Amino acid sequence: MVKTVRKVLDGFYWIMAREGMLPDSNIFLVQDEDRFVLFDAGIHHFFTDTCQAISELGLNLKQLDRLILTHTHLDHSGSTPEFLRDAKDCEVWVSEEEGTLLEQGDDTIVLGSMLGQRLPPISIAKKLQEGDVITVGNYSFKVLHTPGHSAGSLCFFEPQQQLLISGDVVFRHGSFGRVDFPTGNGAVLKESIARLAELPVEMLLPGHMGIATKGGKREIQLSLQFARQVL
Ligand SMILES: [Zn+2]
Repeated sequence: MVKTVRKVLDGFYWIMAREGMLPDSNIFLVQDEDRFVLFDAGIHHFFTDTCQAISELGLNLKQLDRLILTHTHLDHSGSTPEFLRDAKDCEVWVSEEEGTLLEQGDDTIVLGSMLGQRLPPISIAKKLQEGDVITVGNYSFKVLHTPGHSAGSLCFFEPQQQLLISGDVVFRHGSFGRVDFPTGNGAVLKESIARLAELPVEMLLPGHMGIATKGGKREIQLSLQFARQVL
């Protein structure tokens, strides 16, 4: 069953996670001339549904240029081998910390064994670091290293649009990422959220649940307030 797709901005789409018994993540598709980039891959169980959503946008996997992961938990990374199999010249970009583990086929952060799919070693074309800038079509994303949910969690901030792809660091309605998985750390997550709360964010695009098209900064501040109470 095809996933629901919503337009976020021109050439920028939200492929909604199919959350249920199995975890899945939101995927953000950004067009770059006749190619496109995905932020997060979603879980492998829903790969076919994701592909149908992509084809409904008039695109096919041969046009997939880059797969950029916010972090490597299986619900975000699980479809990576399938995308690499079907795409042509697709690169995988991920944080330095977690990229090295993916190349080694190390499951520590991915948690594939727990969720029924061990990823094979994946070659990483670019290991992203704090301050890198990623240009996709008309958009330029600043890479923010925001650990706490996992050691190599990244957020991507687009200053022109005041838009933040926040992975599992912060969600809407005061929610934030869990810290009980390997390399998770509550004190570190609070620092990361505090940093995000300073940014002029209007649109908040998290890895799970809904997106906010307005008032993203307020949502992040609420997450910070709750995180300070419970972490
Ligand atoms: Zn996660």
